[in-house]
Amino acid sequence: MAGIYIHIPFCKEACSYCDFHFSTKLTNKKSVVSAIEKELELRSNYIGKELVDTIYIGGGTPSLLNEVELQSIFHAVLHNYNVSENAEITLEGNPDDLTKKKLKELKQTPINRLSIGVQSFFEEDLRFMNRAHNAAEAIESIQNAKEVGFDSISIDLIFGSQTTTNEMWQKNLETFFELRINHLSAYSLTIEEKTALAHNIAKGKVENVDDEKNYTQYLMLQNAIQLQGFEQYELSNYCKNESYSKHNTSYWQSKNYLGIGPSAHSFDGTSRQWNVRNNSLYLKAIDNKTSYFEKEGLTEIDRYHEFLITSLRTKWGINVAELKVLFSPFIVDHFNRKMLSINKSTIDLSNKYLVVKSAYLFQSDDVVRELMIDFNA
Ligand code: SF4
Repeated sequence: MAGIYIHIPFCKEACSYCDFHFSTKLTNKKSVVSAIEKELELRSNYIGKELVDTIYIGGGTPSLLNEVELQSIFHAVLHNYNVSENAEITLEGNPDDLTKKKLKELKQTPINRLSIGVQSFFEEDLRFMNRAHNAAEAIESIQNAKEVGFDSISIDLIFGSQTTTNEMWQKNLETFFELRINHLSAYSLTIEEKTALAHNIAKGKVENVDDEKNYTQYLMLQNAIQLQGFEQYELSNYCKNESYSKHNTSYWQSKNYLGIGPSAHSFDGTSRQWNVRNNSLYLKAIDNKTSYFEKEGLTEIDRYHEFLITSLRTKWGINVAELKVLFSPFIVDHFNRKMLSINKSTIDLSNKYLVVKSAYLFQSDDVVRELMIDFNA
């Protein structure tokens, strides 16, 4: 089983905290869509005959594509890959694009899951983040998506922002529950280099994020989510009735995936590669059939470290017996030695699984560090 990620590198506005690759100049959108279709054809051997069971159209803002552009991308996917009949097909969208008319169009495509970038239901937060939508659009987009017949919907929310008080965060969570959708991705606001937010903090125009408030809001989230019968299945992901994001789960389970479009990453089990983070260079290279990506082979230690980072963020944790299948005795011995001295208060080791306790998932990196191989130690 494999997944395909397609990156749509366009946004209406640059959100102040975002370091993903996107352009707010939409003039070459049509050309990039054509190049994506060509890349889908060029890369068809990357995952060979593996059955594709997830497709994720992310960005950027994929809801900026019209129905014709989306259908032509799906045509290229279905023509070149072996896609499962039950594939999970997700589109990321922003509330200001997701009008009822647009959602009806999306319903005519193979998309069966929406991930909506809400971030907050408060104008103050949305303005601070420079989001393109307002609070009313955030609610309407979700209601419209449900009315049109999308029953698998996730929204993104951000906590810990300078403008988000604990009361506002509580209200955001209540609004989410009232909307009765089955999946939430909730992230703490992180300050990424070279973003407008990082710049404003460095200039003293905006205060830095408050780690204590961040953690308080994380605990509020965990508490509220449990009371409402949701399950935290990954550090930032929560769902009801096991409606896990299959695509993101496959990243955490180290399954192969093909990344298409500017800046997209791919993984084939032994190497990673990433496409150029520039729309013009990507277009030129696809047109001229020249190289548009870099590639690095993964050593066994790289693979072990990635395995720790991704597995320990999830509720499934590490299957200790599986370690012997995936890694050499050198890695397994190292892991067993480290397990003797690890801080046991943050983990559960039962039924042969090593899992970080949910209250400590926010600090899962500390557990990862304890288990890593550090040649300088
Ligand atoms: S819409 Fe999403 S990808 Fe675009 S700038 Fe905002 S956060 Fe980044």
